[in-house]
Amino acid sequence: MRPIQMVDIATQYSRLKTDIDRSIHQVLDRANFINGDEVQSFQEELADYLGVRHVITCANGTDALQVSLMALGLQPGDEVITSNFTFIATVEVIALLGLKPVLVDVCPDTFNMDVDALAKAITPRTRVIIPVHLFGQGAHMNEIMDIARRHQIYVVEDAAQATGAFYHHNRTISSRLGTIGDIGCTSFFPSKNLGCFGDGGACFTNDDNLAAVLRSIVNHGSKIKYVHDRIGVNSRLDTIQAAVLSVKLKHLDDFNQRRAMAAAIYNSRLAAIPQVQIPFVASDTSHIYHQYTVRVKDGSRDELRAVLQASGIPSMVYYPLPIHRQKAFEQWISPDVHFPVSDMLSKQVLSLPMHTELESEHLDFITSVIKNFYK
Ligand SMILES: *Cc1c(COP(=O)(O)O)cnc(C)c1O
Repeated sequence: MRPIQMVDIATQYSRLKTDIDRSIHQVLDRANFINGDEVQSFQEELADYLGVRHVITCANGTDALQVSLMALGLQPGDEVITSNFTFIATVEVIALLGLKPVLVDVCPDTFNMDVDALAKAITPRTRVIIPVHLFGQGAHMNEIMDIARRHQIYVVEDAAQATGAFYHHNRTISSRLGTIGDIGCTSFFPSKNLGCFGDGGACFTNDDNLAAVLRSIVNHGSKIKYVHDRIGVNSRLDTIQAAVLSVKLKHLDDFNQRRAMAAAIYNSRLAAIPQVQIPFVASDTSHIYHQYTVRVKDGSRDELRAVLQASGIPSMVYYPLPIHRQKAFEQWISPDVHFPVSDMLSKQVLSLPMHTELESEHLDFITSVIKNFYK
């Protein structure tokens, strides 16, 4: 048995090596490292895949979030509401731009933004909502879009963990996550569902004007070379990374299916253990299992983690500290606002190995160690 890893990028690469190497070598031969044709064609391929009018690539997922907020014409002190249980990048960019992060608690079952808490957090200064599609399933976008339209505020989806997942608007209409709000953002960090071999990111939008503004912002605020209409940044996807991503995009549905198959096996083996709650998938979304995250409800999480570790099974806690517990954000947290669900989850969540290369022997072994621990 291959050693068990949280993510196994090397084995995935070995399966796709011929195509990926050919694609990378084409870039090396042409030496078109910056803004090469591969960047343009990858943007078009991803837009087709997602069913969205525009894909604007950039240097990483954090930049995608930052340039999205820069594109919306916000004023210092404008409020941006997001989830309290997320990766730091989502909140960091809000603060970095002089905007005010307003945090809301999450649902204990999906780990995504609680829409009742969202409704209560709206003030006359709210300009943007950033729902995070955590671990690979969608936040309740219908409800979030309703609230946003009612108050005329923007929605920027953080889809860094959900590239390729579907949101079901109703029984017959579905869209890919990241294409529902005004702008969607993703990351191509190597361990993401669609990952490159370094850093990368992208914004998605159906709005032609926003697309033009985003394209200009990632290029120093410029449309015509050396003519600058606004303050921008330098945020580009390398041509080599675009070449890798073009190959991998063709396999993304297969990657996500492999993850879902591993999740189904985990679910069937772990469902009967009362101390362990398997992931709950809301009816309005698909789940592409960026992470397979269980809740350990009897306080034994850290002990279980140690036992797994001793058996050569890695696991991770995403996230050990919710945003309201982070020192960097203490100035925005008022002492009388509480986040009981985030606090509870940070003590219960445990993410098990999840990637496209898990074999049934890996899953047998991992689940047997967990079963034995609770016997
Ligand atoms: C990975 C991630 C990001 C940031 O992406 P980078 O490419 O690492 O900058 C933002 N939000 C969430 C939820 C993420 O998981």
